[in-house]
Amino acid sequence: MHILSKSTYIKGLQCEKALYMQKKHPYLRDKLSIEQRAKFQRGTDVGVLAHEVFPSGIDMSPNSPSQFPKKVAETWDNLSNPEIKVMYEAVFQYNDTLIMLDMLVRDGDKWLAVEVKSSMRLSDTYYNDAALQYYVLHGCGVPLSDFRLMYLNGDYIKDGPIDVKQLFKMESVMEYVVEREAFVAKNVEKLKAVVALPHSPLVNIGTQCNNPYPCDFQGHCWKLIPKNSFLFTTAMDDESLFQNYFNGVNTNAKMLQQIEPDSEEAHQIEALETNSYYINYKTLYSLAPQPKPKSIGYLNLLLHRPAVPEIDGTKPYEEMILAFALQGEHQHDAAIDPMHPTSPRRDDMADADGCFVWDCFEDHSRWKEAIDLLIEKLSHYEQIVCFTPQNISTTLLRHEIIQNQTIGYKIFNLFEVLQEAHFYHPAIKRGLTLQRLETALFSESKLFEHSRIILEATSNDLIGYQQAREDLIAENEIVAKTYQLLFK
Ligand code: SF4
Repeated sequence: MHILSKSTYIKGLQCEKALYMQKKHPYLRDKLSIEQRAKFQRGTDVGVLAHEVFPSGIDMSPNSPSQFPKKVAETWDNLSNPEIKVMYEAVFQYNDTLIMLDMLVRDGDKWLAVEVKSSMRLSDTYYNDAALQYYVLHGCGVPLSDFRLMYLNGDYIKDGPIDVKQLFKMESVMEYVVEREAFVAKNVEKLKAVVALPHSPLVNIGTQCNNPYPCDFQGHCWKLIPKNSFLFTTAMDDESLFQNYFNGVNTNAKMLQQIEPDSEEAHQIEALETNSYYINYKTLYSLAPQPKPKSIGYLNLLLHRPAVPEIDGTKPYEEMILAFALQGEHQHDAAIDPMHPTSPRRDDMADADGCFVWDCFEDHSRWKEAIDLLIEKLSHYEQIVCFTPQNISTTLLRHEIIQNQTIGYKIFNLFEVLQEAHFYHPAIKRGLTLQRLETALFSESKLFEHSRIILEATSNDLIGYQQAREDLIAENEIVAKTYQLLFK
């Protein structure tokens, strides 16, 4: 049986303890987030599509880990079978390290190795990944003509059926992987020794816990760190926080002695100590809409960026509007002049207390209908309030829902406002999301991460669609509640 694989090798490069835990105590791993699962699924879907670039291959994927030895032997047999021109997921093992290569293509008397990535750019991890695979292939004595990374071509525009030859680009990394072979060999020996240890290596928590990826053993390694530790603050960078922590400044009280009493870090620690949140109210109120708008539309956009373009005229990861929820609110005591351009029209007054939801879940090609509808609906409100990490004005401009930047005054993005007002709560250590905001402000966590709605909306399932609509409305309610809490 093998000791290392591509994923455990990459894990070991990030943290030796993470590798050990993965091998010896995998049950202590945190649950995969919906976003991570979606990412894996996207990788698999793109990988399968990439097969069409080198079609008619034989799939070597094992059904279970117990089949690895059998698949290694079969792969080896296939190498000397001239009938076999292409193998998908060919399984090789060398020096206790097992790999499954996306595609291996016969190229004269040699083989072309291809690894597929579902992104439009190549990262260091992809290069490290390729270097490990080359190390194993070379160790096994597979003669390679080239090693290439295949990834999505951001310039490809869909026009009719997907043209896989245009959708993907390839880059040779042969020179790089050959050069890295000695480095990989050294790491493989080091990581094998880690796995052979009788106990977990002594590794302190540190910046590696989130870099380059959030480690999935944090639930285990961080369990002794108090939930209100200053390590969960965001005002200082992680490196400085850990430096203080391991230099003996390991309690909130000690940290407070080190820093300015009126600093942002101090305010955040106070919030931790009192189990509440921090906002710089002076900044917050300076950002409040003036004068108070007579009508507000709470807008929740559901944007979708499919890796493989679905609609003619679009590119990989090009954004489309899958749905929006718009909830209107009016000052009931104000006289509304139906002739005034910013006054709501009668038909909108009808959904003033409810939530208007539009979607194209069942037929994405209708997505541009959202544009005219939004232009019309948004024009009825003096203020549009939303919560999104994206620059919503840019999104609306891009789709010509608003015509110029100056209309940005009408858009009030709570995400940006809260960040500007230095909003802090320990739940947002890993980033401000609506779900975490709900936890922070209302001590509730009924919402799911926004990415779940995209999964529901693209599930090809009527129940999923219905759930997506309900979740969009639930999110919008939190946006409205937050705005009312902070500005009314
Ligand atoms: S949580 Fe941090 S210390 Fe623990 S295994 Fe992961 S990276 Fe290593």
